[in-house]
Parts: sequence; C-alpha cells; structure tokens
Amino acid sequence: MRPKTLIISHGHLDHCGLAPNLMDLKPEIYCTSLTARLAGLLARDTLKISENRGHNIPYYNEEIQDFERSVRAARYREEFETQGYRACLYDAGHIPGSSSVYLEKGKQSMFYTGDINTLQTELQNSADTEYPESDTLLIESTYFGKNHTPRDVLEERFIESIEETLDIGGKAIIPAFSIGRTQEIMLILRKHGLCAYVDGMGVDVFNLIKRSPEYVRDIKKLERAFTNSNIVQPEQRREIISEPSVIVTSAGMLNGGPVLYYISQIYDDPKSKVHLTGYQVEGTNGRKAIESGYIEDRDGIIHLNCRLELFDFSAHCGDAQLKEVVKKSCDSGTKTVIPVHGDNTIAFADWVKEELGANAIAPVNGQAVYI
Ligand SMILES: [Zn+2]
Repeated sequence: MRPKTLIISHGHLDHCGLAPNLMDLKPEIYCTSLTARLAGLLARDTLKISENRGHNIPYYNEEIQDFERSVRAARYREEFETQGYRACLYDAGHIPGSSSVYLEKGKQSMFYTGDINTLQTELQNSADTEYPESDTLLIESTYFGKNHTPRDVLEERFIESIEETLDIGGKAIIPAFSIGRTQEIMLILRKHGLCAYVDGMGVDVFNLIKRSPEYVRDIKKLERAFTNSNIVQPEQRREIISEPSVIVTSAGMLNGGPVLYYISQIYDDPKSKVHLTGYQVEGTNGRKAIESGYIEDRDGIIHLNCRLELFDFSAHCGDAQLKEVVKKSCDSGTKTVIPVHGDNTIAFADWVKEELGANAIAPVNGQAVYI
C-alpha cells in the first residue's frame, strides 16, 4: 500500500512522527498550519536526540524540509479535494491545531475523530462535534472504561498541593508535555495567582502558537500567562532551584530535558514535590517514579526521597464523552464504528454492538480494514 495522501490529525509524535519518512512517496499532505509547524519542531527534536544518543537516524534534515514544503495548510470547516475524495477538518479540542477528519467519496463517508476532547479546557475550546453524518466512525479510545476527575476538583487539588509545598519551604517541580500541557498549566497557575518559571520546549511551542492564535481559546490570556512568568535560560537553572519556586518544565514523562536537572537537585529533599501532569507510559521514568520510587538518568539510578503525585490533566475524552460521541454519531446514521488508539478497543467494540446495535470492528496492529 503506497498512500498518495497524508492527512495529519495533530502534532503529537504518535500521529505525525513518521511523516518525514514518507517523503519518497511524494504524497499530498494536509493538516492545519500549526500541526505542520509542530510536526517540524518534533521531527528536528527527534533527529537531535537520535544523534546525541547514537540511535539510528530516522530521517535527515532534507526530508524534514521536504515535508514542511509539501504541506498544504487546511483550515477547520473548509473543504478540500484529494485523490478523488472530498475532505474537511474539524476542531478536535485535543491540542492546539488538532483536527478530526471527514472523508467522502461517492456515496461513502467516514469520520475520524483523531485524539479528541469534547470538554473545554483553559487552553482549548471543546471539540466541534457538529460534523456531517458518516457511514463509518473511526474513534480514539484511550480512556474507554475510565472517567477523569472533574477538572475543577483536580485543579483545586493541584493548586493546594503547590501552595502547601511552597509553605513548607519546598520546590514545586511540574513536569509537563511541551505541546498543550505546558500552556494549559501556565494558564491554570496564572488564574490562581501563582508566578512560575517555565523551562524547555514548551516555550518554543508557545512561540509557534503565537503565529497561529486562532487555534487556542484566548491568545491574549496565554500571552499574559507567559509574560508574567519567567522564561528560564539554561545558565539560570542553578540559581532558581536554590530557593522555593514553582517550575514548569519538560519532559512530561521525565525521560529527558531540563526536568532531570531539577530532580537531581531536589530528589533527596522531602519538602519538595514533583507534580506530574499527565499519563505516564510504561517504561518511562515517570512510570518508574510512581510505581517504584526511582528514575534513571545518564549517571544511574536516583531514588526519590522527595514527594511525588500524579494529576490527570488529560486532553482526551473520558469514558462518558467517548460514548456520547459514538451515540450521537450512530443516532445520525453511522453504521460501523472502529475504535482505535487504546488498550481496550475490543471491549469498546463489544459495547457498541450491544448497546447501540451498530457494527463494530476492533482491528489489531497491522490489520487492514476495508470499508
Ligand atoms: Zn495526541
């Protein structure tokens, strides 16, 4: 199978990371302008990490440039045509620039949710779910079977934890994913009158978002959140961590980036606390820290004597919202549902069949589904 068109839903590595590898196919590439910039940023970062760590080089700079030149920027709700298909992107509410994709050819149609959030956050509007009827729904299922803590409750606990850490003289380290999460956390801290330091790639992402302000709820608010904070230069890190402070930094799963320096300075201090702000994938330092109380860096194992807590600031639909999307879609004529992107797609497919009486397929990795 040699695809002639790539439609990229959003700028997370698991959705756009391979795009530069496909340049020899000379595909038509469609995504929002911001997704294209984020994909370029991540591709350059991936290349740099591969070179620094002596891993296989996934692609070269020329292929990244080729990718960036080839992108045809699409806007939400503006139809385009590619290879005989009519297509249209809709706001997926997941990260800035994220899209769901509607595709139609002849009498057949499909809607792919991408990673989707139907609840509004500080950073993002909720997903646009007023999309056309489609025969087939391809839906993410990351949180099928799990609901999130309501955002206001979570936010209150998070802020209380930071304030308590500062009150007892500790340092509050907040590891955050660079795309979306860092900006969301900065908005929440500002809303509660907390002034933070911000360090790492989340600042670069903020600078890209400024060039496409239509992809966040309120760019002015976001700009204030960043201008009221202190953007950290590498040479300032030592001084900042020497006194009680709030530091938002990458990487969100503790697998690299400036967060490892900050942890190396506070790991033995029971007054300080690491506030994880998102899902920690198995095998990452973040998961090791939660489950076994240690992380690994280049110098070996660090046992954490500081405190650590996970706050689930997810950018995905929880179980209730996923089911709502499917119900609404089936009510308006969807006949086949294909859950993907989750650990529990078979249970999701069973739920669709039993509860809604629609056809559902849970493909395994590598399986082709023809519709
Ligand atoms: Zn994503």
